[in-house]
Amino acid sequence: MYSLDSFKKGLEELEIELSEKQFQQFIAYYELLVEKNKVMNLTGITEWEEVVQKHFLDSLSLVFAVEMEPGMKMLDLGTGAGFPGIPLKIAFPEVQMVLVDSLNKRIKFLQEVIDTIGLKGIKAYHGRAEEFAQKSEHREKYDVVVSRAVANLSTLSEYCIPFVGLGGSFVAYKSGEIEEELENADNAIMMLGGTLASVEEFTLPDSDVKRSLVVIEKEESTKKKFPRNGGKPLKAPL
Ligand code: SAH
Repeated sequence: MYSLDSFKKGLEELEIELSEKQFQQFIAYYELLVEKNKVMNLTGITEWEEVVQKHFLDSLSLVFAVEMEPGMKMLDLGTGAGFPGIPLKIAFPEVQMVLVDSLNKRIKFLQEVIDTIGLKGIKAYHGRAEEFAQKSEHREKYDVVVSRAVANLSTLSEYCIPFVGLGGSFVAYKSGEIEEELENADNAIMMLGGTLASVEEFTLPDSDVKRSLVVIEKEESTKKKFPRNGGKPLKAPL
């Protein structure tokens, strides 16, 4: 029913191999996404080939920046309809995944996805980064924190770096020109205990869509006052 040709071609470029079961999970996720998208706002993209490229393969492109180790603890902040967290969890089931979003409707959708396609070792939480990152069970507890299309890098660093354990990393999915954004986030990254490690630039498989993964490593513990509350990370970036 769905052609897997371009999906398989893209996966080859990413050097990811999926089993029949994993392909079925991606298809079931796609069907739930498109169905639920009729009654709530989850994605602007609904055509199979486009979802494969701009959501699934884009999410999985994290492999350009991160070695996916079994048992590693990963958090996806502002996951929305589950990107990049759900594709990463399907492709790398041994990763312990936590999804966080401030919109409860989306979290309910994600719980339905998790239950329907039978994912284990994954939790979806309703919460805002500003409060959630202050909880001791989540603060500085993750090996890798990822986030796509949530905020500018300065704001996003304040949301995400507090979750990262020492020696771990925060990877931001970005597109387009990011030079200025990087410069503007310099101070925030430093104040939060991070350091800019690398920027991986690539084009999405089988396209000329340019993407970057900004990799920030955590060198020092984040001061307790971050992330600031009252919407400050967004309104008054560091
Ligand atoms: N990462 C997804 C969704 C991007 S839309 C994707 O790439 O498709 C941005 C999402 O971030 C929304 O679902 C919104 O509810 C969530 N969000 C925005 N600010 C947030 C915050 N401070 N804490 C947690 N989630 C937040």
